[in-house]
Amino acid sequence: MYRTVAQLDSLTAALANWFPQLCTRTRLPERSVQGRDVYALRLRSGTGTNRRGVLLIGGTHSRELMNPDALVELAVDLVVSRLNGTDVVYGGRTWSAQDVRLILETLDVWIVPCINPDGRHHVMTVDGMWRKNLRDNPGTACDGVDLNRNAAILWGVTEGQTSCSPCSDVYVGPGAFSEPETRNVKHLLDTQTIHTFADVHSYSELVLYPWGHAFNQSTNPAQRFTTLPTGTCAPIGVSGYQEYITVRDQQRFETVAGRIVDAIAAVRGRAYTPQTGRALYATTGTQSDYAYSRHIADPAQGKTYGFTFETGPRAATLEESFHPADPTLIKRDAKSGLIALAQQSICAFDLIGLKLLGRRSEVDALRTVRDEALAKTEAGREWITLIERVELPIAPVLLDDERLAAKAAKLLAHAGQLATDTDQQFGDEEADLGLDLLRDLDARCGAEDGAVHTDLKAVSALLERLRGRSSAEMLKHLTTQGPRDG
Ligand SMILES: [Zn+2]
Repeated sequence: MYRTVAQLDSLTAALANWFPQLCTRTRLPERSVQGRDVYALRLRSGTGTNRRGVLLIGGTHSRELMNPDALVELAVDLVVSRLNGTDVVYGGRTWSAQDVRLILETLDVWIVPCINPDGRHHVMTVDGMWRKNLRDNPGTACDGVDLNRNAAILWGVTEGQTSCSPCSDVYVGPGAFSEPETRNVKHLLDTQTIHTFADVHSYSELVLYPWGHAFNQSTNPAQRFTTLPTGTCAPIGVSGYQEYITVRDQQRFETVAGRIVDAIAAVRGRAYTPQTGRALYATTGTQSDYAYSRHIADPAQGKTYGFTFETGPRAATLEESFHPADPTLIKRDAKSGLIALAQQSICAFDLIGLKLLGRRSEVDALRTVRDEALAKTEAGREWITLIERVELPIAPVLLDDERLAAKAAKLLAHAGQLATDTDQQFGDEEADLGLDLLRDLDARCGAEDGAVHTDLKAVSALLERLRGRSSAEMLKHLTTQGPRDG
C-alpha cells in the first residue's frame, strides 16, 4: 500500500528517463544520516527560464507515510495530463489540461517526495511510529532529530511543542540545520527562486501558514522574531508576545489557504481548516515558517510563502491516522490541494512581462504600488482581491492569444510608467485600449463564469473613471473607492 524508499526513487528515475522534456531529477547535495541519496524532481514544460518555483516536500516525519506517495503520484498525474492533453479528475474536482499546461509552462514545480528516507525505511521495517531522522545522539540512548524543529527560525526556543531533550519526539537537534536532511531543503531554497513552499504532513485535515511560534499581529512591526535570542532552550519569555506580519501577507496567506481548502472540499467534501500554525500549537524551527522568514531575516532574499499541510483525519488509532490501510482518497484530496497551491503561484502579470516585454521592471513597479499603497487601505485591498480573483481565468487566454497578449503588454508597459512617475497621465488611447482588451477577455472567459464577468465589468467602470487623470489621482481613487463603491 505504501512505496518503499527504493520504489519512490525508481519512480522518480523513471519519470526523468522517460519524459526528459518534462522531468529533471537532481540528487540533492547531502546524503541522509545513514548515507541514502535524496532526490528532487523538477517538472516544467515549454521554454523560458527565470520562473517562479514551487517546492513541495514530504516525508519529513517518517511515520506520515501517505504524503511521499501522494507527491510522486501528483508528478505522474501532471506529466500524463501534459503529455496527453487530458484533464486531471479527482472526484468532484477537475483540473483541466489547460490548467496543468499553464502551471507547467509558467512555473518550475520542484518535488522532493521524501526528504527523510532513513526514517521511512525505519518505519517500514522496524518501528511504525518513528517520527524523527536516524541521528545518533551521543551520550544518550535516544536517536533522532525532529526535522521539523531544526530550521533556523527561532531554533532552540522551546515554545510549545519543541524540546532540547534528545529523547523527545520534538527534539531540535544540536544546532540549526545540523541535519543533512534539512540542509537539503535549505539548499533548494538557497539556489532556486522558490515562491511557494509546502511541507506535507499528516494528520488533522489542516492547511497551516505562518506563524507557528506566536499568534499574528499587524500593528507592531517592532515585534519580530529577529529581535529574539535563539538556542536558549527556553520559551520566548516575552509576556504577550505576538509576531508581526504585514496586512498584505496575512491577506495573501488567507486567500491562498482558502483556495486550497476549497479545492480539497470539491473532491469529496472533506472540510480542511485553514489556520496559522500557532492556532494548532506553538512550534519553532519548522520548515514552512523558515521558508517564509528568510526574506525578513535577510531582506536580500526573495519572499517565499510557506505552508504546511496536515493530510487525512484523526482515525481510531494512531497507526490508522498516520498510515491508513487505504490512503487512496486522502492522497486524492491532498493532490487537489497541492495543484491549487501551484496554481495560486502563477502571476498573469509575470507572464505578460517576461514573455512579451522580456523584462519584469514594470511588474515590479506595480507590485510595489500594490504592497506599499493599495494594501494599506480597505478599498485598496478589495482591488487586490479582485485582481487576484480575475488573474487566473485570464492567464490561459493571454498565453494562447498573441493579439490579446500584445495589447496586454502595451498596457502593462504604460501602467509601469504610471507606477513610477506621478506626473504621468492615463490618456484616452490607453483607456480605449484597456476597455477593448477587457471586452475581448470578457468574450473569451466571462461567458461561462459570472464572477469573472462581474469583476471585468468593475475594472471597465474603473478605467472610465480614471480616464485623463494623473497617476497621483488614480492612486487616490484606488485607495479610497473599492470595486463596490460605485
Ligand atoms: Zn508531521
